[in-house]
Amino acid sequence: MRRRPGDEAPEFELANLRPRWQQEALCREYGNPADFFPGRGEDLGPAKAICETCPVRAQCLAYALDEFEDRLDCGVWGGTSPGERKRLRRQRRVGDAA
Ligand code: SF4
Repeated sequence: MRRRPGDEAPEFELANLRPRWQQEALCREYGNPADFFPGRGEDLGPAKAICETCPVRAQCLAYALDEFEDRLDCGVWGGTSPGERKRLRRQRRVGDAA
């Protein structure tokens, strides 16, 4: 059956699009999803505490740094805030230029 714009994608297709490391993500099982996408000025501590012991933290951070642009970045990924990732991207660009 042909899908049309606006149709929901079947779950199995979405699962195949996700990076494999996300299967080990602690945030899939622990914490409130809203903690990982807090509003402006809200506490990032609960999400960051979960990230601290996540076995795929490095992969998660690398993914966020590579996949998101500063202006579209949001939420806690790899134990970092959007502002922290913005600084990391800037440091990486400076390092690449040197
Ligand atoms: S490091 Fe990434 S995958 Fe792990 S809990 Fe934090 S946000 Fe989730």
